[in-house]
This record gives sequence, C-alpha cells and structure tokens, in this order.
Amino acid sequence: MSERAASLLAWYAQHRRDLPWRRTKNPWAVWVSEIMLQQTRVDAVRERFESFVVKYGEPRAFAAATDDEVLVAWRGLGYYRRARSLRDAARIVVAEHEGQVPRDSTALRNLPGIGEYTQGAIGSIAFDLPLPAIDGNVERLLSRTLWIEIDPKSRDARDRMRDEIRTLHTSAHVSSPGDVNQALMELGAMICTPRAPKCAQCPWMLFCEAHERGRVEELPRTSGRSKATAVETEVLVARREDTVLMQRVPPGEINAGQYCLPTLGIPIRREDDLEQSVRRSLGVHVRIGKRTASFKHAITKWRLTVHVREALDPPPPDAIAADVDARYGSPRNDDVPATTIVRKALRVLDRR
Ligand code: SF4
Repeated sequence: MSERAASLLAWYAQHRRDLPWRRTKNPWAVWVSEIMLQQTRVDAVRERFESFVVKYGEPRAFAAATDDEVLVAWRGLGYYRRARSLRDAARIVVAEHEGQVPRDSTALRNLPGIGEYTQGAIGSIAFDLPLPAIDGNVERLLSRTLWIEIDPKSRDARDRMRDEIRTLHTSAHVSSPGDVNQALMELGAMICTPRAPKCAQCPWMLFCEAHERGRVEELPRTSGRSKATAVETEVLVARREDTVLMQRVPPGEINAGQYCLPTLGIPIRREDDLEQSVRRSLGVHVRIGKRTASFKHAITKWRLTVHVREALDPPPPDAIAADVDARYGSPRNDDVPATTIVRKALRVLDRR
C-alpha cells in the first residue's frame, strides 16, 4: 500500500466520526443517507436518518409513500424535491429491479436523483465498486494536495482527481473503495476545512503541495458562491384552540405541497398587503393585527426575515372558500406536512 493510502486509512480508522449511516453497508440505507446529506448539516441528518430507515426500511416501503408521507418523512431536511426523486427512484427499483438497489453502476446512475457523486458513494460504500465520489470536501482536499489551480469543477481538474482516487483505490487493496472515499470526505470535512485547515494534524501534510508552498487557503479556485438574497415577508397566524390555519403551498413554489401559514409569499412577494393577500388566497376577509414577532429563516439561496401577524378574528373553517386547500391543524401532528416556518412562527409567539 502506498504511504499516501496507508496514512489516510490509518487516520480514518482512528478519527472517523461514529455516524449512524456508517454502521451499515445496506445499499438502501447508504442511499438514503447520501441523499439526506446533500446540502444538509450532518446534525440535521443524524436526527432524521434513523427514524426514516426504521419506517422505510427498504425501497418497497418508501415506494408506496404518498406525497404527504414523503414530506412528513423529510421534515426539517429541506430541499424536498430530492425526497420525491428518492421515492420515484424507489418505485423504479420495485418495478425494474425486484425491489433491490441495483449493483450495476450504470443502472444506479439511471435512477432519478443519482448523479456521479451519489453513484460513486453508493457503489463504493455498499458494493465495493472502485468508483470515485467527489463531494465539496474531497474537491477542496485534492485541489490543495495536488495543487490544482484551475476550477475544480472543470473537466481537467476532475480527471486529475479521479486518477488520484483510482490510484488510492488500487493501492489500498486491503480496504474497500468505500473506506477510501469516506476517508477522503472525512479528512476534507474535519481537517482540510475551507478556512484555517488544521495542517499540523493532517496525515497528508508531507505530501501536500499547497502546504509545501505555504498557500493552502488560495485553493480551491472556486468562482465564489452566489450570495444569499435577503427578503422580508409576513405570515398570518390564525389560531382556534390548539390549531392554526395552514394552507397548501401551490406547485412551483418553494415548499410546494406542504402546509404553510397564509403569507405575502415565500420568498417571492405575491402581494404587499397581507389582508388583501389572505382575502384573495382563502376567499375570506380576516382582520389582522400588527407585527408582533419576527424570526430569521434560511431557505435555499434566500435569507428570509419573517414577520408574524395574528388574526384578530380567526375565520371559522367553513368560511374558507371550498376550493382552497387550507385547514386548521397542529403542525406538531406527525401526519401534517407543515413547513418549518409554521413551527418557528408558533415558537416565537409562545416565547413572548
Ligand atoms: S496539509 Fe493542510 S492543506 Fe494540505 S491536505 Fe492537509 S489540511 Fe489540507
């Protein structure tokens, strides 16, 4: 085994975080974890992963989930489109692969929601296939160690990274490609961090070109993330006893299919006046008080400031237009796919 592979795997064996999805090679569990981890904090995934795989322990179970059940299962993780893709992919697995996650890398890649990274992660971790899995952490780590000065997403940069990973897979013949891939991701996440990487603790310090040059923070050469856009909006809290009025978010909008509070629009403002907006969307006039609380909420590229206003005369359910998908319900009820915004709004009101 090369020194590079040996030091990487030795470091990983000693320092890897004990995460629930690392305790299994079950292909479905690995797949679920990889989809959940896309653009989502490890701590948030830790909270949801285990209950998800208990409830949906195999593709067949999730394939049968309704849209609302998918949203409830994914609650708190955001980016709900990937959950629907996962359910659609599970349906294909049932229809075309007898309910078993396919081992074949091309068949994997053809499933909805599986790109090159996810194909590599599932293939290597669950099936020991020698596929690279380059996420943002690996991209940064390899850009620095190999001194890749060009855009790490460019074809030339990717080719160099894939070559390096293939060499590690071949060299680390006693370990699985999945261990190598996970070790690279972990080293990037924990040691080779975007700012102030911990080079003194890095098993690759002696092999790292960026460290040798004393220029570690100059790489990777990304074009820079687009900045989040700040927007303000208002939501209506209309409560009757222990329930709150929620309305289904229409298709095409963020959080489509979930229940949210009546609003001026999130994140795009549909109207400027909340009373008018409510009258138009629910077909009922509601007198609304002034802003009583506010909270921040980040969603995809938006940084929202949400102002909460309460109904002075919450409308009875039968006053709401019959063709509107709105209901009084409790967002704490596990069967209601309510947005995080609903829970946050109630929490800030309760804290006053
Ligand atoms: S030596 Fe520093 S820059 Fe190089 S791979 Fe390790 S942590 Fe990253």
